[in-house]
Amino acid sequence: MSAPIRNYYEYDRTASIVCPGCGWSGVCSENEDYFSEVMDIRCGSCDRMLLIVPFPTHAETRKAASEGNDAAIGNLDYVEDREAFFARAEEHSLTSASDLPDLMGDDLIIEWDFDDREKAEKKDSWTVLRHERQEIWREVAFYEGIKRFEEVLWILREKYGSRMTELRPTQASITYLCGDDLRASSRIDSLNAELADMRETQGDGFFVEVEDADGQPDDPKRQEEELRASIAELGSIDCSWCGWIGEATEARVNGSGDQREVSCLECRRPLFRLTMSDS
Ligand SMILES: [Zn+2]
Ligand SMILES: [Zn+2]
Repeated sequence: MSAPIRNYYEYDRTASIVCPGCGWSGVCSENEDYFSEVMDIRCGSCDRMLLIVPFPTHAETRKAASEGNDAAIGNLDYVEDREAFFARAEEHSLTSASDLPDLMGDDLIIEWDFDDREKAEKKDSWTVLRHERQEIWREVAFYEGIKRFEEVLWILREKYGSRMTELRPTQASITYLCGDDLRASSRIDSLNAELADMRETQGDGFFVEVEDADGQPDDPKRQEEELRASIAELGSIDCSWCGWIGEATEARVNGSGDQREVSCLECRRPLFRLTMSDS
């Protein structure tokens, strides 16, 4: 039998609790374990889980506050601060490969840097993307933002294709990026290894040759039409990394001239590269 779940604002941590398994009893607050999204209360003797208390969503805090719950009223400032932060973060967030500048070079190393100069004024810290010291993007930084790091890496890959060599955190950024997340640093390494892998080799089926039926390989309009038709012929495709399934025509398509890369709609990893060849 799983433990009952209690609303955060109805939970009384000063109450005592009895273990139905072994008869032990104790005070809730002395037996709390905290996790990122819930706390649970366990038996002090047999370790059975007695109660699960999820941390409140912003909507739950608002509701409890409107009903006069003092703890919820006390949390309202925090909720409003967080929401304002997320709104600012969203406003500055890189969402599209087309927002990035064109860059020269075949081996692009992009630095993931950190700027907290305005911290003293209680303002946000920033993630700054640089190429050869030149700033190419800036957005609000997230503490332990490894998930965001991964999203940005695949947007960069989408923009720069196989010229994208590495997204490299600077010394200044690493503490804020990894925080207490022990897996974050190896995640950075494995993501960059994935990028390197894509530059080296690709599995069977990654490369698709498109024969130029028209015999006018340099006509960009014909190329576009023939490449689009070949993408449609791929039909239903799936991403083995994130599990996305969809029509190739719905996926992200990048590239120009005689090459196109078809990438996952969700995680943006490249799935196919189509190259036009002379017939
Ligand atoms: Zn017990
Ligand atoms: Zn995917």
